[in-house]
Amino acid sequence: MKRQPTELEQRRFDVVIIGGGITGAALAFDAADRGLVTALIDKGDFGAATSAASSKLLHGGLRYLQNLAFGKVRESALERMYFQNLVPHQTRYVPFVVPTYRGLSRGRALLSAGMLAYETLCLGQNRHVRDRGKRVPSGRSLTAAEVRNVIPGVRASGLTGGRLFYESHMHSSERVTLAFIDGAARKGACVANYVVSDRFLLEQGRVVGVQATDRLSGHRLTVRGRLILNAAGPWIRQLNEQLGGRTLSGIVTGFSKGAHIVTRPLTAGHAVALPTQRRNQAVIHRGGRHVFIIPWRGKSLIGTTYGPYEGDLDAVGATAADVAELIDDVNAALGPQTLSPDDVLYSYAGLYPLVQADIDPEVYQGTGDYQVVDHEAVDGVPGLLSVFGAKYTTARLLAERTLDLVSRKLGDDLSPCRTRKLALPAGEIVDLDRFRAERYEQYRDLLSAQQVNHLITAYGAAADSVVALAQEVPELIEPLASDRDTLALEAIWATRHEMAVHLEDFVFRRTGLGTLGDPGTEALRRAAEIMGGELGWDTERRNEEIERVAARFAA
Ligand SMILES: Cc1cc2nc3c(=O)[nH]c(=O)nc-3n(C[C@H](O)[C@H](O)[C@H](O)COP(=O)(O)OP(=O)(O)OC[C@H]3O[C@@H](n4cnc5c(N)ncnc54)[C@H](O)[C@@H]3O)c2cc1C
Repeated sequence: MKRQPTELEQRRFDVVIIGGGITGAALAFDAADRGLVTALIDKGDFGAATSAASSKLLHGGLRYLQNLAFGKVRESALERMYFQNLVPHQTRYVPFVVPTYRGLSRGRALLSAGMLAYETLCLGQNRHVRDRGKRVPSGRSLTAAEVRNVIPGVRASGLTGGRLFYESHMHSSERVTLAFIDGAARKGACVANYVVSDRFLLEQGRVVGVQATDRLSGHRLTVRGRLILNAAGPWIRQLNEQLGGRTLSGIVTGFSKGAHIVTRPLTAGHAVALPTQRRNQAVIHRGGRHVFIIPWRGKSLIGTTYGPYEGDLDAVGATAADVAELIDDVNAALGPQTLSPDDVLYSYAGLYPLVQADIDPEVYQGTGDYQVVDHEAVDGVPGLLSVFGAKYTTARLLAERTLDLVSRKLGDDLSPCRTRKLALPAGEIVDLDRFRAERYEQYRDLLSAQQVNHLITAYGAAADSVVALAQEVPELIEPLASDRDTLALEAIWATRHEMAVHLEDFVFRRTGLGTLGDPGTEALRRAAEIMGGELGWDTERRNEEIERVAARFAA
């Protein structure tokens, strides 16, 4: 992928997508695959906003069962399946444990009935999975002793056992978003990060493009398209407000902030949903809202808080209060000494756009409802669609539905949607276990098995090309920090092939160097030196880049 923003001005596009989160990324891939001349711009780095701030679950939608939203459960289960084909290298199944207690609401009978309904709704969830190793494993019941064994500290009084089921978890939602954008670029889409859409271009009442700014060069760009797709997530409303309130029907009514923390590992490889005292927007309650502890990259990923957010959309972060809330919830469930602030390695937060008038304002849980608004049909403003993503898991489906509409509106003879069957270029691996075993053998003289595994998980089928780079620069086959997998040579790869233009792009999104907490000054200095060598940074620029990253850890 090469960043060539001037192309944005030189070409006339069928669709111009504003926003490079998972919604825009999935739209771009589907659009380019159907043969549309596609542009995608993001005002920051790809996937840096909500799509980086998720719990990273590609989930079967068990939560929706509590609201009796059966259609949504099935939809989520099927979409989880397609993700196994799109990015098999980035997903793994995590065993989830839900403890059961004496009594009705959190008892065995209710949970078993729920799981039976869930499994029925998920029937066929493995039918189209290409790689047998990526099929959802079967769940089972657990005894109380088994539950105590895998969740140290779980409340023992009244514990009757539990239920184990599997959910799909992404290693890096940031890289999955990038994989869609890369897939779009390989099919001819023109994609650029750090290009902000400043305003819509109007001609005779029709939206015909956007006036944008390349934030790296400062150049103004006019990007023209037959249809403009606003996929700017939490910023959708702000953008549409420029059209004088005419394109706000059905648009975001507020925001709920959700925070996560990354801590030392708390469970023995199992994820757990722990009830809290906080209110839940569910029809069937199992004792308040749940906090999840998910094993992730050797640590625990813990979330989510929910609360109203009315602040600056560009300054969303986990506050000390958010971190304290999560620590309190975990300690209330697993014992008062389980977590302290010192155990918190990293924290982050993102926004759920709330788009329904009937959302309980005291709960602030999103509904998981995605939305496509055709402003020509709804508001009489042709040329513009707003596309809200409500879940990472259903982004592919949202793109399919939007592109079906786009296809009807443009009246072109486009190819039908193929993303239920396709792999993204990085995901073109038919048998992941075999692919891994072959690469361990092939690269054993150059890389350790752990390093090969790391490169395959991060880059999928492109791992071979990364290894080719490693052969050119063997002196850079070394981790940037002793407790992280990221290799020094990845800084070259990210800069040359993945549009990393700032150190933070590399530290937080192209790799997980920073998402387990501060990797240390030396690691940042070294990464800045390598990226700077590629991008021509002088000492002052390198220091600025390092300070920007360090500020994020300090915050
Ligand atoms: C705390 C939390 C946990 C979640 N957990 C899960 C989960 O486990 N599983 C799941 O399926 N879903 C989850 N979700 C939901 C999921 O993360 C979101 O639905 C999804 O990431 C939304 O993606 P998006 O592309 O629509 O928005 P974003 O990722 O926010 O992308 C919008 C993009 O638009 C860009 N943009 C904005 N304005 C402009 C402009 N003027 N010009 C150019 N670009 C612009 C932004 O820079 C941004 O990159 C979670 C959400 C939250 C908040």
